[in-house]
Amino acid sequence: MPLYIVGGSVRDLLLGRRLNDFDLIVEGDAIALGRALSSKYGGAVTAHTKFGTAKWFLPESLKTDHQALDLISARSETYKYPAALPTVKRGRIADDLRRRDFTINALAVRLDGSHFGELRDDLKGAEDLQQGMIRVLHSRSFIDDPTRMYRAVRYEVRYGFKIAEDTIALIPEARPFVEKLSAQRIRHELDLILEEPNAVSMLKRLDELDLLSVVHPMLSNFHQTNLAIATSEEAVLQNRNSRWILWLMHLKAQDIEFLNERLHFPADLLKTLHSAALLNANRTAVLGLKPSEVVEFLESYSIKALEVLSMAVEDVEIKSILTRYLVEWWHVKPKTTGHDLKKYGIPPGPKYTEILRRLRAAWLDGEVKTEAEEKALLNNLLEKA
Ligand code: ATP
Ligand code: MG
Repeated sequence: MPLYIVGGSVRDLLLGRRLNDFDLIVEGDAIALGRALSSKYGGAVTAHTKFGTAKWFLPESLKTDHQALDLISARSETYKYPAALPTVKRGRIADDLRRRDFTINALAVRLDGSHFGELRDDLKGAEDLQQGMIRVLHSRSFIDDPTRMYRAVRYEVRYGFKIAEDTIALIPEARPFVEKLSAQRIRHELDLILEEPNAVSMLKRLDELDLLSVVHPMLSNFHQTNLAIATSEEAVLQNRNSRWILWLMHLKAQDIEFLNERLHFPADLLKTLHSAALLNANRTAVLGLKPSEVVEFLESYSIKALEVLSMAVEDVEIKSILTRYLVEWWHVKPKTTGHDLKKYGIPPGPKYTEILRRLRAAWLDGEVKTEAEEKALLNNLLEKA
């Protein structure tokens, strides 16, 4: 069977970049191929008959960076209506290349037998790759699948390419169809962007092309200084959730709710975003507090939100308080435990929390510095009680 590597793998190979995935297309039955490979070389195969794809889990002897290879049957796609998921049929490699997003992603290299190494370039992708051009394959492309506009920007910025003028010209007509994309699909595109080292430039470019406000008006007025930090070297900020926080922390809690109606954030991210927005709005409240008061104030906020904000706030005093909370104060606990209080014969109840908090505050504010001093304070408290 004719077998090809296609898409991003060929693009990155020709650019001399590291491959992060390896897309294999077979002209024929991918499941039969997977089964034949595993019976000849070992390993195991799982098949998705509905999609005509197989995953070959490689035998130990063939494992490299890859644990498994995806084998996919060449197919053609049609779109019943704009922004619909495509209707898929078995096809030839030529069909499979024509269903793709951009010419630079529509290259294939053949792998089987004497054809090994033949470049298949039906759509002049090699030339566009050479010239640094992002170009769609036909004029309905963005209407069929509006996520491609976001992908175009991602590749443009990632590789320092240009979206071809005639491709840019197709954006206005397709832009309204972004509304038809499901929350999951549009959020996925934004997630992919936020994972890129140059995420901020990508967002700026999207905004320039008016592709953020169509997702939600709240997305377009992003806070440049906070976002700029996302390009910094800080490891904690180099992931998509941190970047979502940096992007949205200046919004009101209510606005995050509106945005969530469009994007359906995962529950944990939504909670963190709320916390970050609230913390950002109330950040000056930590100024002039005693450490124990800072702890009481910050305790209810998410640690992830605090972590990102501690790096993103501009005010150096607030920054240093948040940082001390994270590295030091948050971990402070009195030596006495609930167990000890029970031994002293205090009946379990809200009193426990009150006493333990009082002891913790004493440590935080430097009122006690040794276990003996804590004991003394505790005795004092118990006598009064
Ligand atoms: P990346 O380096 O970001 O992974 P990639 O090109 O490998 O880039 P994938 O999302 O992994 O991108 O998709 C693999 C291939 O599938 C693409 O190269 C492209 O040919 C095709 N493809 C992906 N998404 C679309 C789409 N929305 N419309 C058409 N073709 C697509
Ligand atoms: Mg890929």
